[in-house]
Amino acid sequence: MVGALPIALGKNGLDVTVFLPGFPTVLSGLKNKRTRAKIEDLAGHPAKLISGKTETGVNVLALDAPSFFEIDGNPYLDNSGRDRERNGEKFAAFSKIAADIARGKIGRKSFDVLHAHDWQAGLCAAYLKASGDSRVKTVLTIHNLAFQGLFPKTLMKDLGLPQNYFGSDGFEYWDQVSFLKAGIAFSDHITTVSPTYALEIQSDEGGMGFGGLLRAKADGLTGILNGIDLDVWNPESDTEVYQNYSSDSPSGKVKNKRALQKDLNLRQNDAAPLFAVISRLTTQKGLDLLANMTDFIVAQGGQLALIGSGDPAIESAFQAAADKHPTEISVTIGYNEPFAHKLQAAADAIFIPSRFEPCGLTQLCAMRYGTVPVVGRVGGLNDTVIDASPMALASGASTGVQFSPVNGHMLYAAILRTFELYNSPAIWSRMVMNCMDQNVGWDASAEEYRALYDAL
Ligand code: ADP
Repeated sequence: MVGALPIALGKNGLDVTVFLPGFPTVLSGLKNKRTRAKIEDLAGHPAKLISGKTETGVNVLALDAPSFFEIDGNPYLDNSGRDRERNGEKFAAFSKIAADIARGKIGRKSFDVLHAHDWQAGLCAAYLKASGDSRVKTVLTIHNLAFQGLFPKTLMKDLGLPQNYFGSDGFEYWDQVSFLKAGIAFSDHITTVSPTYALEIQSDEGGMGFGGLLRAKADGLTGILNGIDLDVWNPESDTEVYQNYSSDSPSGKVKNKRALQKDLNLRQNDAAPLFAVISRLTTQKGLDLLANMTDFIVAQGGQLALIGSGDPAIESAFQAAADKHPTEISVTIGYNEPFAHKLQAAADAIFIPSRFEPCGLTQLCAMRYGTVPVVGRVGGLNDTVIDASPMALASGASTGVQFSPVNGHMLYAAILRTFELYNSPAIWSRMVMNCMDQNVGWDASAEEYRALYDAL
């Protein structure tokens, strides 16, 4: 989002700078790097503010603080999957510098709006409030309420903020500090990444402990859909795929399927529906449910190609399925963007059976590539996929298959329904076309953000 939205906002005439932690890949990816400021003491260590541009031309400021951000691998978790040490301290320091940049205390200009994302930037609004400077307006976007930035309350004394911010209307959450809750409490406006998720998080179940707080904030809470970068995800020009294609000449898609079947040693068969999974392998994504369906998918004549990593039990369940059906199921454990592009281009359909999904980008990429999403009817999946209901089929509007509630029985029924649709070529090709015609870019949402900034 912070890579693609600034470009769309730029087309709307806004001047946007993205402030990022200086992880090694962030710093090495910047062009025209210059040191803008030196920070002598960032939690006991020196740091620098570096300016530069991304390859796509987005203005970036990065906090070059090696003691915090010189990290290989996952930014937030260590190799054993535990939260990294000093996460609280480092993202508090990052948020404080963000607030200082926004109000012009560091760097060369000040900003009208500070738009912070998730718990990592949750303290920005608190630091701005503590500075007494009310010129900068604040927006917090919640990308996933499951990640709440929880730390022991002893951290409070190190934050350099008024101790009375630790209260039920501030940082405090069950006697811990929550950076996300602080963001919700102190920001001028809250957004989340789809209209349905904006409603779900106000319920007791979807609110994950914050439902009451978010209901109280309902007047300043909006759901605005995410988009994808249409240049990065473009089947006509994508250099990662085997064969380029477009909605005007979709026949290239099947060539991708053949090439991928060959590469993955799957049985060569145009008629076998090829399903993809490109995902974190977690229960949030409902992939434990899908792991139980692999025999059924193969028995129906389908194939499955998966890339992802996560929960070891889910990883091994899929690996066992691939061992059992080596010509029909391929499983790659890991994260690999070029492969994700190949898979999107090659697959007929993609499974996203999420139990909750704030927005979901995978289904947007899939639709752009004419790959029909089979999804749980939750969050952004509800807002972006049109189920092949009798009514939608009659009007020719459907773009996918939704099921609800998200459980094994309903997933089974959805898979059965997907095979029926696939075996009706006229209906299926209409769905593929509809997918490719959807507007899954940022333009519409960028206008909504612009209107929000203007209103603030
Ligand atoms: P999440 O909850 O993980 O953020 P989203 O659907 O919103 O889910 O975004 C995930 C993005 O990461 C998608 O663009 C998806 O294609 C990509 N992705 C997920 N897993 C992998 C993987 N193993 N390899 C490559 N890309 C992946």
